[in-house]
Amino acid sequence: MTFPTRTRFHLLAIAGALMSSTPAALLAQQPEPQYAEEIRGLMATQAITSALDLAEAHDDWALERLIELTEIPAPPFMEEVRGRRFAELLTELGADSVWTDAEGNVIGLRRGRTGARTIGFGGHLDTVFPEGTDVSVRQVGDTLFAPGVGDDTRGLVVVLSVLRALEEAAVETDDDVLFVGVVGEEGLGDLRGMKYLYRDQGLQPDVWIDVDGGGLSRIVSMGLGSVRYRVTFAGPGGHSWGAFGTANPAHAMSRAVRHFQDVADTMTRSGPRTSYNVGRIGGGTSINSVPFETWMEVDMRSESPESLARIEQTFLAAMDRGAEEENELRREGEPLEAIKDKIGDRPSGELPVSTPVVQRALAATGEFGVEGQLARSSTDSNVPIAMGVPAVTIGRGGQGSNGHAPDEFWVNVDAYLAVQRALVIVVAEAGLAGPIS
Ligand SMILES: [Zn+2]
Repeated sequence: MTFPTRTRFHLLAIAGALMSSTPAALLAQQPEPQYAEEIRGLMATQAITSALDLAEAHDDWALERLIELTEIPAPPFMEEVRGRRFAELLTELGADSVWTDAEGNVIGLRRGRTGARTIGFGGHLDTVFPEGTDVSVRQVGDTLFAPGVGDDTRGLVVVLSVLRALEEAAVETDDDVLFVGVVGEEGLGDLRGMKYLYRDQGLQPDVWIDVDGGGLSRIVSMGLGSVRYRVTFAGPGGHSWGAFGTANPAHAMSRAVRHFQDVADTMTRSGPRTSYNVGRIGGGTSINSVPFETWMEVDMRSESPESLARIEQTFLAAMDRGAEEENELRREGEPLEAIKDKIGDRPSGELPVSTPVVQRALAATGEFGVEGQLARSSTDSNVPIAMGVPAVTIGRGGQGSNGHAPDEFWVNVDAYLAVQRALVIVVAEAGLAGPIS
C-alpha cells in the first residue's frame, strides 16, 4: 500500500480503529460515585502525579521499546526469545525478582508494603503470525507498520511503562504487583499461559488487569467463551465403483452437519447470544474414490457457559449420529468412525458491574475525559472471569487497525494516556501505601 500524505494516514488509522470495534458488544456505564472519588483522590497525590508525568515523559522510550519488541518474532508456541528480552527489561526497570514459569510466562514481581494480595498486570507475548513472517517495522510518518505491532506488543510496552513510572516515582503499593508477559493468548495457544497461571501450580493472582485491544474507552469485563473441534470421519476408503457401498466419510459428515444445524438453529435464535460455524472442511482422494477421511473444523461461541455446554453436547451427539447412520447404510467393509478432537476451549463468564476493579477501570477512564464502555470479548481475562476472579482487559492506547493481518499498523496518538490510565487502575487496586511514620 502507498499513501500520499501523513494526514491521510492518520485519518485511515482512526477510521480503521473505529471499524475494528464491535459496537453491539459495548455498554456505556458510569462509575459509582465512591469510586470516582477514590480515583480522583489517588490522582491528586504527589506520588501519582509525578508517576503520571513520568509516564508521559517516557513516551519516546516506549516507542523505541515497541519497535524493538515487535521485531523479535513471537509465533504461537515460540515466544521464548521475545520473553527473554521482556524479562531483561523487567529486571532493568527495577522489578524485585523476575522469572519464567513452566508454561513460559515471564513474570516480574514488584513487592508491596504488606503483600496481602497479589495483583496481576499483563499483556500477551505471542502474535498470530507464523514463523518466518517478516516482522520488521516500517515507519511512515507517525505510523508504524508491522505484524503484531499493536496486538499485543503495544500491550507489553504499556506493562513495562507502568513499571518504569512506578519505580522512578518511587510509588509504593500495599499489595504485590506481578508484571506479566503471558504466552499463548492467540488461536491454538488457547489461553494456555493464563490457564497455567490460574489453574495449575500457578500463582492465581487475586485480581487480573490485562492490556489488549485498542482504544481508551473499552473495558472488557465479560468473557466470550468458545469451544473448537476438529472432527475427522475415517473409514476404509476405496474405488467409487468397485467399492461402492463402503461407508463414506463425506456422506457421514454431511449428515452430521445437517443433524447439528437442525437443533443448533433453534437453540441460537433465543436466549443468550450463541453462535456456531463450520469454518473449514477437507479430505478425500479423488472424485472417483470413496474417501478414507473427511474432516472439518468447527467453532462455537456463547455469552453463557450453560449455552456453550449445551451447543457442544448437541454438536458431539450429531457427529455420532452422522457416523451411525452412514454405518447403517453401509453395504460392505468396516464401519467408519467420527474422531472428535477438541482444539480450543475458552471459558465464558461475566463479572458484576459492581466489582471493584470494574468500577476503578470505569472511574479512571472517566478521569481521562472518556466514557467507559463495558465490553464482551475473548481475551486472557476469560480465564479469571470464568472463575469469578475480578479481572478487566483495558486498551493499549494509540490508534491502530488490521490486527491479525500482515499490514497491521499502530499510530502513536496520545498513547501515553493508556499508560497513565493503566497505572491509576493498577495502583488503585494494589492500594497506595501511606507514608512510613
Ligand atoms: Zn491480543
